[in-house]
Order: sequence, then C-alpha cells, then structure tokens
Amino acid sequence: MERYKALERLKKGNDNFARGCSKHPLPDLNRLKQLEEEGQTGHAFATIITCSDSRVTPELIFDCGLGDLFVIRTAGNACFSKESLASIEYGITTVETPLLVVMGHGCCGAVITAMQHKQGADFSHLPAIHDLIGKLADDLPEAHDMSLENITAAIHSNIFRSIERIHDVLTCARKYEEEGRLLVLPAYYCISTGRVSWL
Ligand SMILES: [Zn+2]
Repeated sequence: MERYKALERLKKGNDNFARGCSKHPLPDLNRLKQLEEEGQTGHAFATIITCSDSRVTPELIFDCGLGDLFVIRTAGNACFSKESLASIEYGITTVETPLLVVMGHGCCGAVITAMQHKQGADFSHLPAIHDLIGKLADDLPEAHDMSLENITAAIHSNIFRSIERIHDVLTCARKYEEEGRLLVLPAYYCISTGRVSWL
C-alpha cells in the first residue's frame, strides 16, 4: 500500500472508532488461511509503537483487523531496548509497512511517573520500572509542577524523543524515508474522545 493511502486508512479507521461506527473486521476462516499462507508482508500497512496501557489498543482505535498492523507496545511507548528497536526494524524492513507511527496518549502513567521521578520520587524498590522511568525522565523537559499543560508537554516530548532515537539507531528508517518508501509520524491518542491527533 502506498504510504499516504495507508495514512488515510488509519485516519478513516480512527474516525469510525471515535464515532462509534467501527466495522471490527473479524476474519472468517478463509481470511485466516490467507494470512497464514501469504504472511504479513503486503497485508500489514503500518508499524505502530505505542503504550501498553489497556485503554490504547491500536487495532480497536484504528478499526483494523488481524494482519493489518504490526504493533510494538511498551510502557510509555519507550524504544530504548534492543528488542523494541529490533521489532521496529523488522516492521519496516521485513513486513515492509509504508507507515511507522509513534503514538503516545493522554494520562500516560509511564510519563507521569517519569515526571515524578524527575522531581525526586524513588522507585528503586521496583528495579525494572526504576530503570525504564529513569531513561524516560532523562529525556523529559524540566517541569516545576504536574499541571495538565506540563504533562501534555512531557507526553509530546516523549513521542518526539522516541522518533529521534529510531532515526539515530535505525539507519533503515532514514533510508526508506529518503527513498519515499516510508512515512514516520508522531501521533497522540486522547482517551476520552477516542481521537488520534497527528502531531
Ligand atoms: Zn501510557
């Protein structure tokens, strides 16, 4: 699928979802068989990295079905680990999705916790969370209070830092963009409206 056509499909799917008109394309047995035989490539049209938050499920938000989206989910849509970056690289180069979307969301607990950490909160009793939150916090702008404005700014900043990291580490992303084969987009999902904004 052409990259701007893929974007239009995500936008239309999100509009269906936000209006309560999802088509929920559930596969019949023929479609399942086709997906097994033909694989993901040529079917999946977007690689999406987003948060593990239970309210932020890309297949529902974009009204998509099985085989449509290649999804990486981590707390705070973090992509520090080799595993996350390898999955993104796989989506771009092997599944050959023409779109790569980094989607943060409102009320993101991971980003809010990282802000608290930056202000002195201690999470060292939870070592894995402590490590992730520390990395997220290092990239966040300074904030003097936890106002909604500051939280939203931090969430946006985290999305853009993820995109920078992907560009820094994955040479295929830059190359494919230059060749017109890939569109890399930042997005923000609003939990209360169900709408995705393209930043
Ligand atoms: Zn989150």
